[in-house]
Amino acid sequence: MTEPLLEFRDVSRTFAVHQGIFGQNDGEVHAVTNLSLSLFPGETLGLVGESGCGKSTLARMAVRLLPPSAGTISFMGRSFAETGEDELSGHLQMVFQDPFSSLNPRLRVGTSVAEPLLASTSRSERRQLVGEMLARVGLRPDHAARYPHEFSGGQRQRIAIARALITHPELVVCDEAVSALDASVQAQVLNLLKDVQQEFGLTYLFISHDLSVVGYMSDRVAVMYLGRIVEQADRSTLFGSAAHPYTQALLAAAPVHDPAGRNTRPFLEGEMPSPFAPPSGCAFHPRCTQAMPCCRDVLPELQEIEPGHWVRCHLYGA
Ligand code: SF4
Repeated sequence: MTEPLLEFRDVSRTFAVHQGIFGQNDGEVHAVTNLSLSLFPGETLGLVGESGCGKSTLARMAVRLLPPSAGTISFMGRSFAETGEDELSGHLQMVFQDPFSSLNPRLRVGTSVAEPLLASTSRSERRQLVGEMLARVGLRPDHAARYPHEFSGGQRQRIAIARALITHPELVVCDEAVSALDASVQAQVLNLLKDVQQEFGLTYLFISHDLSVVGYMSDRVAVMYLGRIVEQADRSTLFGSAAHPYTQALLAAAPVHDPAGRNTRPFLEGEMPSPFAPPSGCAFHPRCTQAMPCCRDVLPELQEIEPGHWVRCHLYGA
C-alpha cells in the first residue's frame, strides 16, 4: 500500500483567548480537534467547510506555519517534531488567497520569487530559474523586474504559484487560492494548477469554501465542521451520495453538480456555533434537520460506511 506523503494523526490545535480581547473569560478555542487525515502522493485532497471550521488552521499546520497542540503530523514518514526546519523547507509550500500576504509589495517580483533560492544558487542561476518559472505560469521573464501592484489579481496569483513552485516542492497547500478571483480568471488559475500538478508531480491539499471549485480539482474530498472531519470520500461518492446531513446541506446550497437531484435536500440554516463554546454531542445538532435525542449528548465516531467513505453521524451507527 502507498505510504502517505502527509499524515495528520490525532491532531488538535487550540488557541488561548484572553479576557478583554473578545470580552470573554480566559479559555481556549478548539480550532482543530483530534483530526486524522492522510494525503497520498500525486493526489488532490479537497477540504471544504464554512468559514471558521478550522480549514485554515489545518492548512498552516500542514506547512509548519503552526505547530499542533497535540498529535503528530508526519511528512514522508517523518514526524515534524523530529525533523529540522531546514530539512523540509522547500518541500512544503503554500498558495494563499491574497497574494499580497506572500509577496512583499516593496520587492520586485523576481526578488520575491527567487527568495527561497537565495542560499543555494548564484545570481545568474536565480535569474534564469525565475524567468523560466514565470514563463511556465503564463507570465513573461521580464515581468521579474516589475512590482506586484503592476499586475492584475490573476497575474499576482500566478506569481504566487511561481514562488511556491520554484523550490520544486512535493506538497502545495492551496488555501482559498482562487476565492478572490473572477470566475473566468478562476478557471484559468485552476487549469494552471492542474497542468503544473501533472508536470511537477505535485500533491495538493486544496482548501475552499466553494464546493464547485473543490469538485473540479479534487480526487478525494474531506468535509470539516467545527474542527472535525464529518465526512470523507472520493469525489464522485461525495458529490453523488453524500451521507452526512451537513454535506447534504452544503451541496443543496451550492447547486453545482446534478442540480436536479439537489432540490429534495435540506438547505443549511443558522450560523456555525462559536468554536469557543461548541455544542455538546454532535456539534451539528442545533442545525441538523435529522437530529435525534442522542445527538445532543454523544459525539459520533467517524466510521467507514463503505470502502473509502467515512461519516461521523449517528444515522449510520452500528
Ligand atoms: Fe444530525 Fe445527529 Fe447525524 Fe449530527 S449525529 S449530523 S445531529 S443526525
